This record gives sequence, C-alpha cells and structure tokens, in this order.
Amino acid sequence: MTSLVWLDQALRLHDNPLLWCNANTPGQNSSSCRLVAVVCVDQAAYFSRQYGVARASLLRLQQQLQLIANTRQALARLNIGLVTLFGEPATEISSLATALQANQIFAATPTGYHEQQTIARLKLQHQVTTLDVNSLLGSPDLAPQLHQLPDSFSAFRKQREPLLQVTPALAEYQIQPGQHWYCPADVAAFSENFSQLAMFSQPLAQPGSSEQDALQRLDDYIWQQQAIRHYKISRNGLLGNYYASKFSAPLATGCLSARFCWQQIVRFEQQQQANDSTYWLKFELLWREFFRWQFRKYGKAWFSRHAIKGPADFSPPSLPHAQQQAFNQWCAGNTGVPFVDANMRLLNTSGLMSNRGRQNVASYLMHDLGIDWRLGAAYFEQRLLDYDVASNWGNWAYIAGSGNSTERQFNLIKQALCYDPAGDFVRIMLPELTATGSLIHQPAPGVKVPAHWQSWLAKLSDRSNS
Ligand SMILES: Cc1cc2nc3c(=O)[nH]c(=O)nc-3n(C[C@H](O)[C@H](O)[C@H](O)COP(=O)(O)OP(=O)(O)OC[C@H]3O[C@@H](n4cnc5c(N)ncnc54)[C@H](O)[C@@H]3O)c2cc1C
Repeated sequence: MTSLVWLDQALRLHDNPLLWCNANTPGQNSSSCRLVAVVCVDQAAYFSRQYGVARASLLRLQQQLQLIANTRQALARLNIGLVTLFGEPATEISSLATALQANQIFAATPTGYHEQQTIARLKLQHQVTTLDVNSLLGSPDLAPQLHQLPDSFSAFRKQREPLLQVTPALAEYQIQPGQHWYCPADVAAFSENFSQLAMFSQPLAQPGSSEQDALQRLDDYIWQQQAIRHYKISRNGLLGNYYASKFSAPLATGCLSARFCWQQIVRFEQQQQANDSTYWLKFELLWREFFRWQFRKYGKAWFSRHAIKGPADFSPPSLPHAQQQAFNQWCAGNTGVPFVDANMRLLNTSGLMSNRGRQNVASYLMHDLGIDWRLGAAYFEQRLLDYDVASNWGNWAYIAGSGNSTERQFNLIKQALCYDPAGDFVRIMLPELTATGSLIHQPAPGVKVPAHWQSWLAKLSDRSNS
C-alpha cells in the first residue's frame, strides 16, 4: 500500500496532522504502508491573471519556493523525501498517485472554492482523506455545522465563545514506528517540472517562508518582548515590528499552526498575565476562523459581484477608461491622497500592510473611487505575503457590504488624523512630501475630494493634531 501525503497548506513539522496520517486512519495496517510526501505549486495561482490583474507577485512566489526549500531540508533531516510538483494540482497529484500506484491521498481540508474543486476532482479517481490542518475548530467534534453557521461574526463568536475549546495542537513530528516514508533519493526523479521554477528562487528570511522563523517570531512576540500585553492598544499601528503580531504570513502559508498560536496565548495567560490584549489576539484569530468557515459554507459565491448577498453575478468587473486610470494610480500608490499612497507603497515594497491601512485603502477604492471591490481584492491577492483566500476576499466583501456586514465607508482624513496624527508614517513612505505636521495629509491639487472629508480637512494643521 502506498499513500500520498499532500502537504500544501501544511509545510511544517509542528502540529501537522497530515504527517501523523497513518496513525489517524483506523483499520490501516501501518507496517505495510509506504508514505510519499508531496507539495505542488499551482501554476494558475502564480502565473495567471484574474480580471486582468496578475495573480501573484514575484515576492510571493519566492516566499513559497523558499518555504518549500526549507521544508524539504527539515524533512530530509528525518530522511523523508519531498516530491515537488508544478502545474495544475489535481492533474499533477493524480498522475503521481497513478505512477506510484498509491491507493490513498491525504490532503488538507480545503477552504477556498478553487481548492474545494481540486479535492472534488481528485475524489472522482482516488480515495482522498482530508484533515483540517489550519483551523482552530479542526477536529470533527468541534467543527461547526455549515448549515447552522451564523453569517454574522458576533453571532458566531457568541455561539462559540462560552464553550471555546480549540483542537489541541499535536507535538512536533518525529518518525513513528511502522511508518515508512520515501526517502530523498527515492523521490528525486519525480520533480522534473518543478525545476523550471529554479530561476525564480531567491533566499528569503521571512516568517512566511520558514517554520523556524515563524516559531521564532511567535516566541519573540509573546514570550521575549511580551508585546502581547499591549496588543489591544497598539494593534492599530501602521509601521513597526511589535504593534501587532505579524503572525498572518506564516498562518497563511501554513508554516505556523493556528492552534499552536492559540495554545501559546493561553499558556501566556496562565503563566504570565491574562488581560484585554491577550483576549483580543484570540478574538482576531476567531475572525480568521470565522471567514474560513464562511468560505466553506458559500464557496464560489464569494467571487460574485455581490458576494454572498444579492443575485449571483460572476461577470468580470468592467472599468471605463477614467476608472482604469484611477485603479492604476491606486495600485501604484499615486492617487494624490497621502494616507492611501503611503499604505499602497508599503504594500508594494514589503508585501504587507497593517489592518488599519487595508481597511482605509479598500474603502477609498470602492466607496470613493467607485471601483468594483473585486479588483482591489485581486490586487491584494497579487501583493500580500499573507494572502489568504478567505481573509482577503472575506474582508473586501465585508467593507463592500456584500459579505458579513453592512457597507463600511471610512473617512480617510479623519482616519489619517486619528492613526497618523503627526504624519510620521506618511512622511516615511512619501519622502517627497514636505508639509509639516498633519498638513501632510492634504490631498494633492486636482484630487476630487469627497464631500464627507471637508470638515476634517479643516482640522489639518502644521502641528501634530494628537
Ligand atoms: C481588505 C483587507 C484584506 C485582508 N487580507 C488578508 C489576507 O489576505 N490575509 C490575512 O491573513 N489577513 C488579511 N486581512 C486581515 C488583517 O488585516 C491581517 O490579518 C492583519 O493585518 C495581519 O497582521 P498581523 O498578523 O500583525 O495581525 P494581528 O492584528 O496581530 O492579528 C493576529 C491574527 O489574527 C488574524 N486576523 C486579524 N485581523 C483579521 C481580520 N480582519 N480578518 C481575518 N483574520 C484576521 C490574522 O491571522 C492575524 O495574523 C485583511 C484585512 C482587510 C481589511
């Protein structure tokens, strides 16, 4: 018997149910089974376009390639080989299963519609067992029933919180007696297509590209700096290392387990201090969880013009010429609205942006420029190193009022005055601007200023407004 262990979304040794798959399969005689670890870079997810926007930046591809290289090394230390594939995942995985006469495939439970379709296609030809590797409520006894899943976060939280139990994290993986993995030499022949990607590889040291860096970040943020103690107060920061956790990229690539994060927060609460901030970090992880289950509930609807509200309409966004120009300027960080441009340039250079920044630039694009929210979501998908299908598209739809809330419109000047009162953030990101104090937030001449900003523009001054 041979089983494929498809590690996409779970490239890590800690808390990885896929690596323990044999032990999890009742009735399987593990001593006669050989296991093959495999990962597949989805060609369309990195090399195609949606609505005319490239699906992934070079940096995001490099992050994924680095993560694969790091995981390959970590597995090799256990004498486990990693087959690396490149192409259309259902086709590639299916061909490998056929070539190795594998009669079982273990894979991560999908969240997004595209991944759901891939698993459904594989199930037509193979026996596929999915394990929920990245959800807090991942075990069957804790998983919400999709038909009873509330569509409002508050209702979800109230339903779950009083009894909030999270699936316990598993220990760091070690070879189990009776488990027989293909070793590195056994798998070398299967990675031919993947070698095409070598030209894009670039060494990166980011939490999203290495399990070790991700675990170090967790330890540093929670235990060494104890920045978790003030998370609730600092979380609306715009720039810096400790205003928020920065767990999102490793959670999104799957090299950090959400359940392990949760357990570390609970341990900190038990051993050091439980306060509003420690609670709030768990609260934000619940947001992530909420969107994951929402995506499982509504599938493709999330990509419709009105997402989960209103009639299904999958026609691509249309952009008249003037809007096309406005969209290009928004992407490049050249709108003339300093708070928008500073955040977009941060995204373009680093692949990250604070939550406060994301809410503001999203609101500006859809509510002030009147551009279809799906174009903004597509651009974020391209750029974000923490790109996660449910968190990204779910948050965009949320601000549009097409998801789990009514429309959220932000007043950019009011927000800039509140979160960047002295203009320091804008000054770092847009060094060409010379205005002093909060006057730096003044939109450039010629920018069409929405009426609801007017009274806030009057509050800009050459001194900090804090
Ligand atoms: C338009 C828009 C698009 C977004 N796209 C993504 C995305 O693609 N990937 C992504 O991980 N997050 C996304 N977010 C949510 C949020 O902005 C990021 O998770 C957060 O900024 C990451 O920084 P952090 O890890 O320091 O977060 P922290 O503030 O430290 O939060 C801890 C963790 O909680 C989760 N979390 C926090 N806020 C949210 C939220 N609003 N929704 C879902 N999960 C949350 C994340 O996993 C995060 O790592 C988006 C938000 C908006 C408004």
